[in-house]
Amino acid sequence: MTDPKHFRRTKIVATLGPASCDERVITRLIDAGLDVVRINSSHGDPAEWSQWIGRVRRAAEAAERFVGVLVDLQGPRIRVGRLGAPVTLESGAEVVFAPEQSAAAGEIPTTYDALAQDVPPGTRLLLDDGLLAVDVTRVEGDRVYGVVEHGGPLRSNKGINLPGVAVSAPTVTQRDRRMLEVALEHGADMIAVSFVRRAEDVEEVRGLVPAGVRIVAKIEKAEAIEDLTRILEASDAIMVARGDLGVELPYEEVPLAQKRLIARANRRARPVITATQMLESMVQSPRPTRAEASDVANAILDGTDAVMLSAETAIGEYPVEAVRAMASIIEEIERSTVGSGAPRRRRSDAPASLVRPHSTADAIAFATGIAAEMIDAPLIVCLTSSGFTARKIAAHRPVTPITGISADEATCRWLSLVWGVRPALTEHFPTFEAMLGSARERLKARGVVVEGDRIVVTAGVPFDEPGTTNLLKVVAI
Ligand code: PEP
Repeated sequence: MTDPKHFRRTKIVATLGPASCDERVITRLIDAGLDVVRINSSHGDPAEWSQWIGRVRRAAEAAERFVGVLVDLQGPRIRVGRLGAPVTLESGAEVVFAPEQSAAAGEIPTTYDALAQDVPPGTRLLLDDGLLAVDVTRVEGDRVYGVVEHGGPLRSNKGINLPGVAVSAPTVTQRDRRMLEVALEHGADMIAVSFVRRAEDVEEVRGLVPAGVRIVAKIEKAEAIEDLTRILEASDAIMVARGDLGVELPYEEVPLAQKRLIARANRRARPVITATQMLESMVQSPRPTRAEASDVANAILDGTDAVMLSAETAIGEYPVEAVRAMASIIEEIERSTVGSGAPRRRRSDAPASLVRPHSTADAIAFATGIAAEMIDAPLIVCLTSSGFTARKIAAHRPVTPITGISADEATCRWLSLVWGVRPALTEHFPTFEAMLGSARERLKARGVVVEGDRIVVTAGVPFDEPGTTNLLKVVAI
């Protein structure tokens, strides 16, 4: 356990890929500050994942750190099918989209057979992250005709977004189900669900994963923002997936959407990851641009739990430098903001009349941060089975570092995503007193606390009932 007085509160998620899947590189990423690895199921070979996950586990163990593994399901992403050669769409020209199996020469093949059923005339199709736009003029059978509004070069496999269209494809595709099986078989800790539209999409995945595997709902569609309260309730965490969000919504709406999503997740005590293009230029450059540094800083100031790297670490030339850059920005920002008082304003986002009286867990979690600050405690110790208590305390963004002690290794890896919580594994103890006694000795032995310190300890007792945060104790060392 590293000294919890000096650690970053905001967590770093990094996507593994060809640039970072080597065990020595993973070790360097962990040294640089990586907390959670993401495996993007849209790319790569599932057969490789077991090796990658094995490498992450070994590297994390050697570093005495808990590193969560998040597998990101592709969801109903619509793509351009295989083109013989890249084509150029000329602005003003007519183009035809056709199912990949039956596309003729000159037509644009798509991987989504039901496209013609979902896009009435007038719909705008955005291709390749919105770089190209086509307006649908007519639909004939399974062919979609359109006029190119913004042209440019088009390659195989590029994404197609249909902003504002209620796509009829299921959120969890057959491919996702196969990927999910592989992910669970190899020990994924968290599953990210793409293109979530409503809470039921998250519930469907919940029904497919064992208890203990956490679900991250990716918010990248306008429909998801509309059903956010229920989605937050159904999921363990959310991701502000700015790549697709910025295509599904006009890009100028993304900054405020990000702020609102983070604020609402904070108020519900749901961890939130801010993702995509955070340090994009570091795919090719050893230093971020000033605008990127500001973007990461702003996400931290917004209250994100974690910031995420995608291409920067998956295929970039400087994966370790990208994690280091994130870590330095976080440290710099937190030096002047942690403890600035903002946390005390965080409450539930439901109208006050609905939330009063607050739950016992909320009252204890709020009081814990205040008590720890008032007595100058070096540490909040949170004895937790599912991570619920630690998550609740963290949501108030206390000044005092939180150590989340759990007998459940999966909980420790989950807590690697949660703002301000340093996870620690303990053996199982039947009673609060026994667990506290052991934690105290361990913290003393590691020099994290010294004689004369007072720490604040919280727990939900009895331990085997998650969600029962009901205990706050000031313990003199
Ligand atoms: C995103 O769209 O921002 C995102 C994180 O999802 P993906 O990388 O799967 O496109």
